[in-house]
Amino acid sequence: MPSLRQSYTVTVPEDPPIVTFPFFSRELRRKSQSMTGSVLVSTFVGLLINQAKNSKSAQGLIGLRNLGNTCFMNSILQCLSNTRDLRDYCLQNSHRRDLNNSRSNTALMEEFAKLIQTLWTSSGSEAVSPSEFKTQIQKYAPRFVGYNQQDAQEFLRFLLDGLHNEVNRVTVRPKAIMEDLDHLTDDEKGKRMWKKYLEREDSRIVDLFVGQLKSSLTCNECGYCSTVFDPFWDLSLPIAKKGYGEVSLMDCIRLFTKEDVLDGDEKPTCYRCKARRKCTKKFTIQRFPKILVLHLKRFSEARIRMSKLSTFVNFPLKDLDLREFASENSIHAVYNLCAVSNHSGTTMGGHYTAYCRSPASGEWYTFNDSRVTPMSSSQVRTSDAYVLFYELSSPSSRM
Ligand SMILES: [Zn+2]
Repeated sequence: MPSLRQSYTVTVPEDPPIVTFPFFSRELRRKSQSMTGSVLVSTFVGLLINQAKNSKSAQGLIGLRNLGNTCFMNSILQCLSNTRDLRDYCLQNSHRRDLNNSRSNTALMEEFAKLIQTLWTSSGSEAVSPSEFKTQIQKYAPRFVGYNQQDAQEFLRFLLDGLHNEVNRVTVRPKAIMEDLDHLTDDEKGKRMWKKYLEREDSRIVDLFVGQLKSSLTCNECGYCSTVFDPFWDLSLPIAKKGYGEVSLMDCIRLFTKEDVLDGDEKPTCYRCKARRKCTKKFTIQRFPKILVLHLKRFSEARIRMSKLSTFVNFPLKDLDLREFASENSIHAVYNLCAVSNHSGTTMGGHYTAYCRSPASGEWYTFNDSRVTPMSSSQVRTSDAYVLFYELSSPSSRM
């Protein structure tokens, strides 16, 4: 995977601040642990947010200090902070219940939750330092040691993976058993594969971010179709090319899922022909995640140099309807945008910011390291958009 190390301008770190995290009172914490059920939990969040309101907090509208080229991290952290379900998981301290598995390492999730809690409950408007969090993420993924600019999407993957591992409800993974599932229908096979995945990887992070992709391989000779189901944490979309300026997000998803002929060296072995055959491959989405992360592949390694596509990709803020990409027609798959991680500049020097729709007010804001400023929803779409965060709309609220 191409690394974006050393390809960015160096920014001077701001002074290390003194930060105090708001710890919950012992009583509240004890209460929250003994409470179950969404009513009590939402009361608890309501309480936190009211506390924040009373103290005139900016409720999630607090910047993150740049520790020296850490805008990639700040951008992703703000996108996640404005993803309602993940935010609530942290504000409700639900992660503590999941951490309570005598696990050796829980510090990444703890620091992440602390940071989200600070952003949402802090009474001041001073930017917060993510340095404690950074210490933990670089323990988990040593590639983030130091102050090189990094790729925001790669960082997101490492972060979600790290958080998931610490709150995985599965503590002892069962042995992988090979099963012959060819007698099942595609739908049954997809369900079985999903169940097998959850037997090993099952957390709130998986509940929110993981979907399932179906790839169908059809033999051009005998017509035999084999299917494979794979979990996905995000979709990396190629940018569709057209003669003129802009393309749509749908064009990019269509390009990603479009039928592809595997021929020559790529020819797979057909199960029925028992020989390598020219095959047609196609992706459909078997299971849509609650939070869909779409990564626009702007960076590519052309020969030895990295290059960046600055094509304007037009994406909807509301009602992104993905039903045409579903394996089954009846699936509900309409999404609303909640955050965008933007990359401006070139591969030689660039900067990350985030545009997020506040789950508290529904208004859009620009998060540029320590600065947070209101923006119009008409400004959200730019050619800097790099990672898009969409939330599945609830079927009942659609009309
Ligand atoms: Zn065949």
